[in-house]
Amino acid sequence: MVTEVAATADLIELEDRYGAHNYHPLDVVINRASGVWVWDVEGNKYLDFLAAYSAVNQGHCHPRIVAALKAQADRVTLTSRAFRNDQLGPLCAELCGLTGYARFLPMNTGAEAVETAIKAARKWAHTVKGVAEDRGEILVFAGNFHGRTTTIVGFSSEEQYRKGFGPFTPGFRLLPYGDLGAVERAISPETVAVLVEPIQGEGGIVSPPAGFLRGLRELATANRFLLAVDEIQSGLGRTGKMFCFEHERIRPDIVVIGKALGGGCMPISGILADDEVMDVFAPGDHGSTFGGNPLACAVARTALQVLVEEGMIANSARLGDYFLDRLRSLRSAKIKEVRGRGLWIGVELTPAAGGARQFCEALQRQGLLCKETHVNIIRFAPPLVITREEIDWAMERIGKVLG
Ligand SMILES: *Cc1c(COP(=O)(O)O)cnc(C)c1O
Repeated sequence: MVTEVAATADLIELEDRYGAHNYHPLDVVINRASGVWVWDVEGNKYLDFLAAYSAVNQGHCHPRIVAALKAQADRVTLTSRAFRNDQLGPLCAELCGLTGYARFLPMNTGAEAVETAIKAARKWAHTVKGVAEDRGEILVFAGNFHGRTTTIVGFSSEEQYRKGFGPFTPGFRLLPYGDLGAVERAISPETVAVLVEPIQGEGGIVSPPAGFLRGLRELATANRFLLAVDEIQSGLGRTGKMFCFEHERIRPDIVVIGKALGGGCMPISGILADDEVMDVFAPGDHGSTFGGNPLACAVARTALQVLVEEGMIANSARLGDYFLDRLRSLRSAKIKEVRGRGLWIGVELTPAAGGARQFCEALQRQGLLCKETHVNIIRFAPPLVITREEIDWAMERIGKVLG
């Protein structure tokens, strides 16, 4: 038994001794959270500037989401898709109403939703477009992050994500991110889809040149392949729009969502598409035991409601601009570039600054929790409920550490 008064060092020791070492977390042990704030086991308070990689866009333990979780937990939590439940249909309808797509297919994790998009695109290409079986090719981009399954890491350009985990699934072609000419040259009659992040989050908050998504849309339409956009991290308000692709006024054929769909409480993900794509799935083609479970669906319905009704998306746009301006006005020899959209900001440090990790640790001591991405980029992505005063509070500390 672990005693309830275990101190930070003891808890870290337990995790490191008995857990797998597949992460390198900051040594802060959180046991309570509310809105943008978290507390560690010693009672220290921190501003959460990562928001669980955008899975907590609505803020920690949002009262309406927690109430929906508790109420649903008392009624029914899991039916499997062998039977129906009273939450899945309403969630699908509400998502379609909100986004303008005809259908939603629920899964649990982001990686599963990406796998679902890959399966949908391949089967669509075979049954609708007429690409020979086992011949379809999906175009993907260097610097991508779409999850951790063997198929997905197989088309990563990140050496560490692949090394030792092969053999991998064929049928993917890696192209330079943002290079429309390279896409055009790679298209063949066997191209089934392009899979793209509208901004690469794990890649370091990297935006492609303006017009890239629009160009992909045009190439996909002209050459009859699908545009699948991974909005798992960029979607649901993070960039100041419901979806990041709205900045280019396009409509993808498949939208992959996850993370904030679960309101920070439940893993739930899925794909949105119209009939021509979604109808390729017949009973038995695809599924998930927990996918579409009533507990996650009830939570997701409320997570979407609060996102819209409480103005979180507009807040992301407004305070994102404010925060970006304030960061850009920091005069620091350590900063090479500040970039981002909405409340999704990357601060790239100069090589001389000596790596982002030490700054994340220094910010932790100041009461700010951030995480480096790659060695030299600090990502700022607070919950979308943050206020201007809280950003000012954070800026004082960021100024001290980076100024
Ligand atoms: C987090 C993420 C995924 C994977 O989601 P998991 O829930 O961790 O499987 C896929 N794509 C993008 C863009 C992500 O940010």
